[in-house]
Amino acid sequence: MSEKRVVIAIDGPAGAGKSTLAQRIADKLGFVHISTGALYRAVALWALRLGTDLTDMYRLTQLAKEARIELLPAGGRVLLNGEDVTAAIREPQVSEAASRVSLIPGVRQALLPVQRAMAEQTSVVMEGRDIGSVVFPDAQVKIFLDADPRERVRRRALELQQVAEASDADSVAIELQARDHRDRSRAEAPLVQPPDAELVDTTGRSLDEVENIILQLVRSRISNGKAAASSTADALR
Ligand code: C5P
Repeated sequence: MSEKRVVIAIDGPAGAGKSTLAQRIADKLGFVHISTGALYRAVALWALRLGTDLTDMYRLTQLAKEARIELLPAGGRVLLNGEDVTAAIREPQVSEAASRVSLIPGVRQALLPVQRAMAEQTSVVMEGRDIGSVVFPDAQVKIFLDADPRERVRRRALELQQVAEASDADSVAIELQARDHRDRSRAEAPLVQPPDAELVDTTGRSLDEVENIILQLVRSRISNGKAAASSTADALR
């Protein structure tokens, strides 16, 4: 691990604003934004296409090991076995399947080295559910992003509108609740706020406000300059 590379871990439930904020922070600091949910989504998409039983732990672990998933920094494109699946992995049935596939310990184990390798050479803002707790327990900055459930449902509905999916608030609420419950209650790497993570509640706050709060936290955590590359230190000034 390079002395100077920095990991900012952002965890939290769906709809808390992780992706948008992680992208903004990454842009600001010149880091790479990695949405780890895309990895679980890509495995889930492959499984759905193959008609795999989503409780078949052996087969799903095999798929997770064999999947060639690339996250391209430009435009956040996602490739699965060489095919651009950026839009396909955002479909609601893939969200649901990703949440099921991510329960399987073998799938999580297979994706662990993939995530760690992505931060080997470069500083990252990595977001997901278990980044600060499992993937990078030694991350220099850990943020747990949360929001009121009603606000999370509203944001998720907006997101779905952007990908042209008609959805009513009730079905979005049911989908989010089910995913949250699975993420928080699973045996392997459940969604938890690590003790050394800062809780940031985004309810009623603008993106600019939350961005500033996070940048302050980043500053305070790496201000001694030990962990920060000089370009990061410059961006934080
Ligand atoms: O963040 P996103 O909504 O894209 O994640 C899709 C699903 O992948 C989540 O509902 C969660 O079950 C799973 N996931 C996970 N661990 C991560 C990231 C995502 O279990 N680090």
